[in-house]
Amino acid sequence: MRRKIVAGNWKMNTTPVEGVELAKAVAAGKGEVCPCVDFIVAPPFTHLSEVVKATRGTGIAVSAQNCADEAKGAYTGEVSAAMIASLGVEYVILGHSERRQYYGETSATLNKKMALALANGLRPIYCVGENLAEREAGKHLDVVTAQIEEVVYNLTPEQFANVIVAYEPVWAIGTGKTATAEQAQEIHAHIREVLRKKFGAAAEQTPILYGGSCKPSNAAELFAKPDVDGGLIGGASLVAADFLAIGKGFAK
Ligand code: PEP
Repeated sequence: MRRKIVAGNWKMNTTPVEGVELAKAVAAGKGEVCPCVDFIVAPPFTHLSEVVKATRGTGIAVSAQNCADEAKGAYTGEVSAAMIASLGVEYVILGHSERRQYYGETSATLNKKMALALANGLRPIYCVGENLAEREAGKHLDVVTAQIEEVVYNLTPEQFANVIVAYEPVWAIGTGKTATAEQAQEIHAHIREVLRKKFGAAAEQTPILYGGSCKPSNAAELFAKPDVDGGLIGGASLVAADFLAIGKGFAK
């Protein structure tokens, strides 16, 4: 049985004090949610240390939103995977569409980041997804296939066992438009098939999360699909009650 995961990508929101309060509120309400759900919060770098301390012993795991594509050295402004891992952070989001779109991240960059994350014991939450033009042209399956083949296929089976995939259609992120549960299932099943081709039965264990305007009102329908193992949540993860309510999309 795959674990269910609800991960909150806070993006560039909250101050450190607000972030600690938000994490504590999630921890306080977690008991109302099925114990089958693993919660992850991904604050900005500046809050990681405090949020790790605030969530210790609560069962809430912490993720970074990015890491550098070099191990160390003269890379002003960058934060390495080793630095992140040293704080007790367990996950790192890689390949988010905002990073691909605004910061020019390519598969070449992401191969380096994945290798460094895994070498430092961080579990990558690797994001894939098509934009609106690609969806309208019927190319969505090809786009995610390439995003998986160009990066995840370069991992060893041991590395692959630590990867989580997040399918996030770019047209659904922060737009209020959500993929239908059927659209999500189609592409999640496709992603699992692409993973199975390279990694065989191990693909059955890979959590594949849906992201893109996921909210309390649509989570249960999305999560009811067999290949949707949870969500990567943006806007709704900034309100503890909404984030927890999304977790309740998995029946207790
Ligand atoms: C995201 O950017 O990871 C995301 C899913 O955002 P939102 O939920 O706000 O659409």
